[in-house]
Amino acid sequence: MSTPLVSKVYGRSATFSVELWPPRSEKAQRRLEVALEALRAIGPDFVSITYGAGGSTRDRTHALVVDLANQGWTLPMAHLTCAAHSKAELELILRNYEASGVTDILSLRGDPPLESAESLPKGELTYASELASLAKGIGNFGVAVAAHPEGHPDSPSLKSDRQYLKNKLEIADFAITQFYFSHEVFSSFCEDMHRLGVQKPIIPGVMAPTSWATLRKMSALSGATVPTSLAKLFDSCEDNPEEMRKIGVEIAVDLCTRALEDGAPGVHIYSMNSAESTHEIYDALRPFFQ
Ligand SMILES: Cc1cc2nc3c(=O)[nH]c(=O)nc-3n(C[C@H](O)[C@H](O)[C@H](O)COP(=O)(O)OP(=O)(O)OC[C@H]3O[C@@H](n4cnc5c(N)ncnc54)[C@H](O)[C@@H]3O)c2cc1C
Repeated sequence: MSTPLVSKVYGRSATFSVELWPPRSEKAQRRLEVALEALRAIGPDFVSITYGAGGSTRDRTHALVVDLANQGWTLPMAHLTCAAHSKAELELILRNYEASGVTDILSLRGDPPLESAESLPKGELTYASELASLAKGIGNFGVAVAAHPEGHPDSPSLKSDRQYLKNKLEIADFAITQFYFSHEVFSSFCEDMHRLGVQKPIIPGVMAPTSWATLRKMSALSGATVPTSLAKLFDSCEDNPEEMRKIGVEIAVDLCTRALEDGAPGVHIYSMNSAESTHEIYDALRPFFQ
C-alpha cells in the first residue's frame, strides 16, 4: 500500500513540489509564513521540510511538518538524517510522526556542520538506505531518498555511487536529486540509472538561487558544479540581490522545462523559502501541471 504522496509521484501527471527550511529566527519565521501563504495559493503536490543534521532545527522540522499535516492543503514530507542519532532516537521520531499522521519521509545520511561534527555523537546508522529500511519496517511510510547526478563527493567513483543509489531505490519509493545547473548532467544521470535497470521515479531537484554566497557554500558541500559562465553571471550581480533572484528563476524555469519535456515525473524546487521565486517558477511551468 502506498501513501497519497507516493501515489501522486506514481500518477500520470507531473508533480510540483517544494523544499522549505524551518525558520531559525523571527525574520526567517516571517519569510516562511509569506512563502507558505504563496504556496497555499499554488497547491503544490507536496512540500518537504529540511532537517538539521547538526541538531539545530530538529524540533522545528517536526513542528512544521506536523502543522502542515494538520492543515491539510498539501502533503508534507519530513527530511530525516542518520547523522548524530542512535537507532532508538530515529525509531522514536518515526513513531511520533506516525502517531501525528505524517506518512512520508526523505531518508538521508545527513551532513552535520563541520564546526559541530566533533562534538556530536556518531550516528548509529551509516547510510540512508539503513534509515529507509528502518522507516519501512516501522510503519507504512512512503520513503524518498537523495540522488546525486554528479556523484556524491565522498564516492570513490561515479559508478559505485550509481550502484548504491540503485540499491537504495530497491528499498525506497522514489528519489529526488541534488541540484544541478546543466540539463545534460541530469539527462546523462537518468540514462545511467536506466541502464542499471532503475524504473522508480527520479524527480529532478532544481534550485532557484537567491544568494551567490549561499550557493557557493552549498555547491562546495554537495559537489554540484556551477558552470564558469554562470559563476561569472552571478559574480556580476553579487551586489544586486533582485537581479540574482531573477536570473535564478530563469535558470530554474529552463532546467525544469527541459526535464519535464524529457518526461521527468515532476520537479522539486529548492525554494530557499522565497515565495516570489517559487510563484514565478510555478507560473512559467503551469501548462505542465494542467
Ligand atoms: C533532496 C535532498 C535533500 C537533502 N536534505 C538534507 C537535509 O534536510 N539535511 C541534511 O543534513 N542534508 C540534506 N541533504 C544532503 C545529504 O544529507 C548529503 O548529500 C549527504 O552527504 C548524503 O546523503 P545521502 O542520503 O545521499 O547518503 P547515502 O545514500 O548514505 O550515501 C552517502 C555516501 O555513501 C555511499 N554509500 C551509500 N551506501 C553505501 C554502502 N552500503 N556502502 C558503502 N558506501 C555507500 C554513497 O555512494 C555516497 O557516497 C539533502 C540532499 C538532497 C539531494
